[in-house]
Amino acid sequence: MRDRIIETIEMKVKEASCHAEIASSWKTPLVGFADAGDPLFGELKTAIRPSHGLPGDLLPGARTVIAYFLPFDPSIPRSNHRGTFSSEAWAVAYIETNRLIAGINERINWLLEQEGWQGTRLPATHNFDEEQLMSDWSHKHVAFIAGIGSFGHHHMLITDQGCCGRLGSVVTDAVIAPTPRCEQERCLFKFDGSCRKCEQRCPAKALEADPFRRHACYDRLLENARLHERHGLADVCGKCAAIVPCSFTDPVKRASRKNRSNR
Ligand code: SF4
Ligand code: SF4
Repeated sequence: MRDRIIETIEMKVKEASCHAEIASSWKTPLVGFADAGDPLFGELKTAIRPSHGLPGDLLPGARTVIAYFLPFDPSIPRSNHRGTFSSEAWAVAYIETNRLIAGINERINWLLEQEGWQGTRLPATHNFDEEQLMSDWSHKHVAFIAGIGSFGHHHMLITDQGCCGRLGSVVTDAVIAPTPRCEQERCLFKFDGSCRKCEQRCPAKALEADPFRRHACYDRLLENARLHERHGLADVCGKCAAIVPCSFTDPVKRASRKNRSNR
């Protein structure tokens, strides 16, 4: 089942990338699996909010959480590098990736049901509390538990393919072996303090404070949503992710490889 799920996600991404009516394209997706009983899910009630769901709240009898990252083609973050507002390509990629995630989840559910399993059809976004700006199912944290990446100073997930892309997840009662988590930091600031590029790039100065100024960030997302409303709902920004050391890769791994080859 594991391989068929990965093949299905890859196939859906390839189809969408070639589709004449879809402007965006994506690189090869990353897929991870978490044991639904992993104690880290329980910790999200403290780390995020008490109402954060457990896999079993979403699907009684849950055994596995499937998480995946769809990395944007590099042309999309490059388009978002300059200026203080999101590029059109970034906003459109957000909307098109949300649709792609819905299609992938539908297909994964079909696959599971063929084998007598069940799954959830979770939306990619817009499932959060508008006051606290926190979600009862954080795809980011779930993807971390499923070994897809670790958190950067910009609060996004840094994967082996960087941080520019979007995440989806499905809870299922099928049993699939979990993906091991990489314990090493992937953010250069967290690793050795050598980077704060995302903070410098943020037009809302949201990353200069600890805790992160969540409402300042959200106001910026809403400004971009107004700017791009003709395309649909694109409450995006991504300036902290576009063309920084972790945009396309794990920069800590890259630096270690460079150091080894210079020896
Ligand atoms: S830009 Fe630098 S500090 Fe910010 S998340 Fe990426 S690696 Fe970390
Ligand atoms: S998404 Fe935009 S406003 Fe929010 S932290 Fe990143 S750069 Fe700042």
